[in-house]
Amino acid sequence: MKIEEVSGKFKELSKKQKIGFIGTLSLCLILISTFLYINSMAFQVKSNGKVITVVKNKEDFQVVLESVKEELFNTYGEEVIFDEVITYERVKVDKDKIAHVEDIKKAISKNINLEVVASGIWVEDKCIVALHTKSQAEEVLKKIKSIYEPDEQVKVEKYDYAENIKIDKVQIKGPEVKNVDEAVDFILKGTDQEKIHKVEKGESFWTIAKKYDISVDDLVRANMDVKPEKLQIGQSISLIVPKALLTVETVTNTTLKEKIAYEVEFEETSALYKGEKKVKITGKNGVKEVLAQVVTQNGVQVAMNVVSENIVSKPVTQVVLKGTKNPPPRIGSGSFIKPTRGRLSSRFGWRWGRKHTGIDIAAPYGTKVIAADGGKVTYSGWKSGYGYLVIIDHGRNTITYYGHNSKLLVKKGQKVFKGQKIALVGSTGRSTGPHVHFEVRKNKIPVNPLRYVKY
Ligand SMILES: [Zn+2]
Repeated sequence: MKIEEVSGKFKELSKKQKIGFIGTLSLCLILISTFLYINSMAFQVKSNGKVITVVKNKEDFQVVLESVKEELFNTYGEEVIFDEVITYERVKVDKDKIAHVEDIKKAISKNINLEVVASGIWVEDKCIVALHTKSQAEEVLKKIKSIYEPDEQVKVEKYDYAENIKIDKVQIKGPEVKNVDEAVDFILKGTDQEKIHKVEKGESFWTIAKKYDISVDDLVRANMDVKPEKLQIGQSISLIVPKALLTVETVTNTTLKEKIAYEVEFEETSALYKGEKKVKITGKNGVKEVLAQVVTQNGVQVAMNVVSENIVSKPVTQVVLKGTKNPPPRIGSGSFIKPTRGRLSSRFGWRWGRKHTGIDIAAPYGTKVIAADGGKVTYSGWKSGYGYLVIIDHGRNTITYYGHNSKLLVKKGQKVFKGQKIALVGSTGRSTGPHVHFEVRKNKIPVNPLRYVKY
């Protein structure tokens, strides 16, 4: 039906019918507008006077708030604290301004401080960390303490927290409640923060510390399980320097064995030449037992006090003889003495198809080798075949060789007297056992040493 047809039909109606129709229409309009009016009536929800959302009915908000509280209780298992004042104010708003369940939830979490009652670890009047239950809080304290447990061998005088700690209830936001491992970690590090550096090629603790402006010591402390000399490319290095929130203090009594160093005394003797020394009594270190009280905090020794000392064995003073006798002149006298005490093991002359240019005197390793006559050292060092060798020029075109030594005691250019210690017996060079190869050369030609010394 078209409009013209409607108005045409309307015209056809009687006056009474018209009045009735208009009345019905007006009633409808009133009903519709009333319906619309009621529909846009709503409540502003205020928390501590601040509008946080708009709901159709007060109950809509209350139901959601209760469900959020229940959810928190189910998650954290603790009493939920809610001490804000909620008020409602009747308002007229567009229908689409009215919040639905999800919007109400968001408004609650954003604006209302819903806290749970947890078990806090308190130091003085500050709660450092919160756990779900008292037994968890106790477990955390037990775990941290056990890290710094003293050795079984020592006598423990104190093994406890340095701080005054108590476990008590704390009101806290749900997500801030920690589990045992998180709490242990947090207390040891003093923070939840993570700051990691990935090791790059060519980096060391020193360059990394410099880059982030922290000390190398701190970097080591932040990475106790990392070996600074074995850094790998891509390895994660923590840049958070731990600052523990609790201090486990131990006081233990330890017995330490310490050495007492011996003293050295000198005794003069005319039996030795000036400049010569000989040990008469060998010194020996003593031992003392020290009872010490050691104080550590979180495993780091902070003090050590000596309680008592007990000498177990006294040190023996070393006595050294010091020569006073004037040495003979450091020039050749023309006669020789034996270069070492020992047994003649090889003679001068031909042996095994080659000429032996000296004699061999077998002697124990380390026996002293002395100058056969006064003179000047012209060689002291390694020489192929001879091993460690000393050559002395005695003048009168006479020189002597002392080979195969284990240690040389004189230097080239040094003047020595007859009988002076110049080396120690060894088996260096071409040698099959400790001995001295002694050679005498006249006008550079080896002669039989047995013409000068008797063996
Ligand atoms: Zn020889």
